[in-house]
Amino acid sequence: MKIIVQKYGGTSVGDTERIKNVARRICRAKEPGVGLVVVVSAMGGTTDELIRQAQEITPEPSEREMDQLISTGEQISSALLAMAVQHDGSDAVSLTGIQVGILTDDSHTKARIFKIEPEKILESLDEDKIVIVAGFQGFNPKKDITTLGRGGSDTTAVALAAVLEADVCEIYTDVDGVYTADPRIIPDAVKLDKISYDEMLELASLGAKVIQNRAVEFAKKFNVTLHVRSSFNEVQGTFVSEEADTMSMEKVVIRGVTYNKEEAKLTITMVPDTPGVAARIFKTIADGNINVDMIIQNVSAEGFTDLSFTVPRPELVKARELVEEISRDIGAGAVSVEDEIAKVSIVGVGMKSHPGVAATMFEALAEEKINIMMISTSEIKISCVVRSDDGERAARAIHKAFGLDQE
Ligand code: ASP
Ligand code: MG
Repeated sequence: MKIIVQKYGGTSVGDTERIKNVARRICRAKEPGVGLVVVVSAMGGTTDELIRQAQEITPEPSEREMDQLISTGEQISSALLAMAVQHDGSDAVSLTGIQVGILTDDSHTKARIFKIEPEKILESLDEDKIVIVAGFQGFNPKKDITTLGRGGSDTTAVALAAVLEADVCEIYTDVDGVYTADPRIIPDAVKLDKISYDEMLELASLGAKVIQNRAVEFAKKFNVTLHVRSSFNEVQGTFVSEEADTMSMEKVVIRGVTYNKEEAKLTITMVPDTPGVAARIFKTIADGNINVDMIIQNVSAEGFTDLSFTVPRPELVKARELVEEISRDIGAGAVSVEDEIAKVSIVGVGMKSHPGVAATMFEALAEEKINIMMISTSEIKISCVVRSDDGERAARAIHKAFGLDQE
C-alpha cells in the first residue's frame, strides 16, 4: 500500500470553515489503495491562548500539567477534522499521541521521541480509514502526556512518515513553499522547486520559519521526502530531499538569502591572551543555557585581545551579566553590547565546489557602502553581521548579486 502523510498547520485549520476545506482536500487525496495519515496542529492561536491562561493562574505552572493542557489543542482540531471528513462521506478516525503509540522521554514540554508503536494506525489503515493524528504530543514511560516543543506537529508528521515508510510527507502551511528569500523583504524572491535537507536546515534556523528544525533533522536521518506546500491552493510547493544535493552541485551555487534581526553582539575588550580563557568564558555562557552563534577573536596585541560574539536578543541581558562577571574574574576589560545589528546569510550546498562566493557577497555589500561587522562561514553558508538599518538593503543587494531575482 502506498502511504501518504499530510500535516496541516494551525492557520490551515484556523476555523471550522478552513477545517471543512482541509477535509475536502483530504477526501480528494484518498484514492483507492492509498493509506492516508493526516497530522494536525492546534487551530491557530490556541496553544498561545492556553499558555496565556496558565500564566494567569500561576507564573510557574508545573510542566506535567502544562503538557496536559496544551496537548488539548491538537485533540480538538483532530476530532473536528475527523467529523468534517466523515460528513463528506469518507471513513475517518482521530487518534491522540498515546493512541498512536508515540513514546517519548521524560522531558515535559520538549520531549524527544524514543519510538513509535503504530499498531493502531496500521489497523485503521487496514480498515481503509483515514487516520487523523493529533500532532505535537506523545507519552512518557510513566504514561503521562508529553509535548514535543513548539511547532512539534511537524516532528510528529515526519516521525510517522519514517515508521510507516511513507512515500512522501506533505507539510501544508500558509505559504506556497520555500523561497530564495523572505518575500516580505525581497518581493522578487522565487519559490524553489527542490532543496536539500542541509539547505532547509540552514534556511529554517536562519529564520525561514516554514517547518520546525527538528522535523527536518528527522527527515534527513530517516530519508523522508518532504513536500512543503500551501493548503489554500493546488500549486506544487518545494520538495526537500537528499537528491536536491547532487542536482545543485552542478549549477545552482546559492539557494537562498536569509535575514535575521534576532541577535545581539557582545564584545569583551582586553581579554588576557592565555590558554583556557575562551573556554572559561564560553563555559560560563553555556552553563547559563545561552546559545552563542558567531564568535570573533582579534589578533592579540601585547598579550591582550578583543572577543566578540552574538547571542539571541532575548538572552542579551542575562548574557551580559554572566559575561561581566567572568570578565572581572579573568581580569579582562569592559564589556560592550550592540543590539542594533542584523545578520544576512547566503545558503547553498553548491558553494562547496565554487570559489569566489564570499567575494561576490562582500562586493555586493561594498557597492551598497554597507560595512561588515562580523563574518562567519561554514561549508554551505556565509553570514555577515551589519548595522540593522542596513540589513534589508544588504539582503536585497546580495539576492540580486547571485541572480536569484525573478526574471
Ligand atoms: N500547537 C503547537 C504549537 O503551536 C504545535 C504545532 O503547531 O506544531 O506550537
Ligand atoms: Mg505550527
